[in-house]
Amino acid sequence: MTTEKGSISIHTENIFPIIKKFLYSDNEIFLRELVSNAVDAVQKIKRLGALGQFTGEVGEPLVEVKLDEKAKTITISDNGLGMTAEEIKKYINQVAFSGASEFVEKFKDAKDANEIIGKFGLGFYSAFMVADLVEINTLSYQEGAEPAKWTCDGSTEFEISEGTRTTRGTDIILHINAESEEFLSESKLQEILDKYAKFLPVPIKFGTKSESVEDGVDEEGKPKYTSVEVDNIVNTTNPIWTKAPADLSDADYLDFYKQLYPFSEEPLFWIHLNVDYPFNLTGVLYFPKVKEDFDMQRNKIKLFSRQVFITDEVKDIVPEFLMLLHGVIDSPDIPLNVSRSFLQADSNVKKINNYITKKVADKLSELFKADRKAYEEKWSDIGLFVKYGMISEEKFYDKAKDFALLTSTQKTHFTFEEYKEKVSALQTDKNGNVVYLYTTDPDKQDGFIQAANKKDYDVLLMNSPIDNHFVSSLEQKLEKTLLKRVDSSVTNQLIEKDEQLESVLSEEQSNTVKGIFESAISKPGYTVEVVGLNPDDAPVTITMDEFMRRMKDMAKMGGGMSFYGNMPDSYKVAINGNHKLVSKILNAGEEEQGKFAKQAVDLALLSQGMLTGAELTAFVSRSVELI
Ligand code: ADP
Ligand code: MG
Repeated sequence: MTTEKGSISIHTENIFPIIKKFLYSDNEIFLRELVSNAVDAVQKIKRLGALGQFTGEVGEPLVEVKLDEKAKTITISDNGLGMTAEEIKKYINQVAFSGASEFVEKFKDAKDANEIIGKFGLGFYSAFMVADLVEINTLSYQEGAEPAKWTCDGSTEFEISEGTRTTRGTDIILHINAESEEFLSESKLQEILDKYAKFLPVPIKFGTKSESVEDGVDEEGKPKYTSVEVDNIVNTTNPIWTKAPADLSDADYLDFYKQLYPFSEEPLFWIHLNVDYPFNLTGVLYFPKVKEDFDMQRNKIKLFSRQVFITDEVKDIVPEFLMLLHGVIDSPDIPLNVSRSFLQADSNVKKINNYITKKVADKLSELFKADRKAYEEKWSDIGLFVKYGMISEEKFYDKAKDFALLTSTQKTHFTFEEYKEKVSALQTDKNGNVVYLYTTDPDKQDGFIQAANKKDYDVLLMNSPIDNHFVSSLEQKLEKTLLKRVDSSVTNQLIEKDEQLESVLSEEQSNTVKGIFESAISKPGYTVEVVGLNPDDAPVTITMDEFMRRMKDMAKMGGGMSFYGNMPDSYKVAINGNHKLVSKILNAGEEEQGKFAKQAVDLALLSQGMLTGAELTAFVSRSVELI
């Protein structure tokens, strides 16, 4: 074979400086690209063997990454199908894009290397991000093939000559450039391989490691061990998501979870994904125990394409409300060099998203039906996902309404159906609406909860970060149902009924009482009202209207309700005209009236955790004086 020189068919002077310059940040992906090319080559020869198109010895498949720090080279070798000189010209030289002008036009906007590499099929050429000379040394599987060698120094000039390989396969030799010497480090390469190659389907060898092996017995008959150097295979070739669920035990799933997230607590449960129509997808998703720190737990799903790691930013593939899940998704329908813009445009991605939502709903439904008690125990962890999903995805709501739980302050769980059944009789108002009472803070609102319970009303616990939104969305979805926080008005008026207790006070007396309390409360935003309640209900109750409070809470959470957020707080002060303290105040001397009224209001504020600072101090000294 004679040496041949030629030009790579790109009609521009030199695209490599552009590749180097613009793709510098992601340059570690050269190893992913070259190793996956090697894996492809090995799988192709296996397939040819299986099809009878190659009758020679396929042998043990192997890809090897070698580092030579002195020579400043990294070599990626495989025993795959190899290439003839003709094939090198065809697959390597004729770079797969229509024209340099298109490239130059597009690279300006490209955000990352993946985007360019994906768009232009430049996998192999990513080598030039880190090397200033690349050699291919290869021998094709084809009968009578001659070894071929290709070299290129990063210009568009290449050289093909006779190669030196004597066995089938390919070596890609990278002469690492001065700016990329960080890659001439064993730990650096190990780190990149761990990231991208950990689950590749062909063994990837990188260096050696020592292992202790049994080596005879000592004088006492105990086995002796010696340390020997063995090949370091960096990957697991059959990760669990490639297997059938029937062949896996719980321990297999838990082991795999440990392997992915070594320092995490055990997951609650998992879902094995497996579809081949209308798109191809496998994977295992785990429900973790939810921690306070949500952000730390996001971006834990790893996306693979045929076992090659692509990214752990799966934002567009996994529904937003499932971003806290952990695990892996593998889909060959997502190209290796996936880019953001591709994901947003791809219709498969939307289908994958819907599929995952459905699978998660099915799994939850199955757990709920199979063992209600165990499901209830997990509810504090999974409730957050379920509620978030119900708020954000209509389709998910429709499924989840049968297995979502409402929890009462007594820590009992009910399905929506069961709860309605439970409270309808006592908690339906005069307009036929069932009123669900809830608390966001059982400690602060204890007085109100007790008062409600005294009337045999049930109170729901809605104290998780998402419940504010969940309450609003429930009210929209459930028919003829209102949700009211237990302290949104005096207990008697929470559920409007026809029969109302009359106040024993005359109109004139009521007005006097109102006046006394109005002057005792010096703060703005408080409206006083005298109402007829039970004699043993609290003498003074301070409430904030349900609607107003909800709007304010949303504004606080940044719900775009700044109009409400900016409004001053306004409270209702309900004076129980039937309480004996009120008649005592009416009959007291003028100076005492004010003092007693102030004391009664402060006690109400105190019981609701609203009395603080100077007001609290004044209250304490006034109390001492009164004793
Ligand atoms: P892609 O892998 O997307 O086809 P690449 O630029 O990575 O694009 O590779 C171009 C082509 O070069 C491959 O399709 C394959 O035909 C050939 N090739 C690359 N590496 C090898 C290898 N190690 N063994 C055999 N052929 C290879
Ligand atoms: Mg490739």
